[in-house]
Amino acid sequence: MDFIPAGEIIGDAHQVRLVRIAQNPLLPDGEYKFIDSYCSDPNCDCRKTMIQVMHNKKLVSIINYGWETPAFYEKWLGNKEKDDPMPSMSGASIDINSPNLVDTEEMLALFNTLLNDIWIAKFKNHYKKFKAAIAQ
Ligand SMILES: [Zn+2]
Repeated sequence: MDFIPAGEIIGDAHQVRLVRIAQNPLLPDGEYKFIDSYCSDPNCDCRKTMIQVMHNKKLVSIINYGWETPAFYEKWLGNKEKDDPMPSMSGASIDINSPNLVDTEEMLALFNTLLNDIWIAKFKNHYKKFKAAIAQ
């Protein structure tokens, strides 16, 4: 399935998160842009975002984040994936297609540190608007 940055679908209603990093021993200094994207299938209710992390206009990492509980995704996947070695869709993980140009564990740690109720509410809101826009 295709993931499209929220801004391309919902325009001005979308806000990208910018974070400035300095003196982190594992991440290069500078501005990091977190661009949340959502799956473009109007019939799919995956309730997750794929976040492209840009540093100096370069894609350095891709993070998957699912805001629902592990039980939600297990049910959504139909329980058949229980023994599947795939990482859980719940919470944050590095995407399999991430270019990994920065330390992956540190990037995940940074993401989890930045993650708060306001940001999670934004993801849910962007997802809702995005799905409503592509359903038309
Ligand atoms: Zn989906």
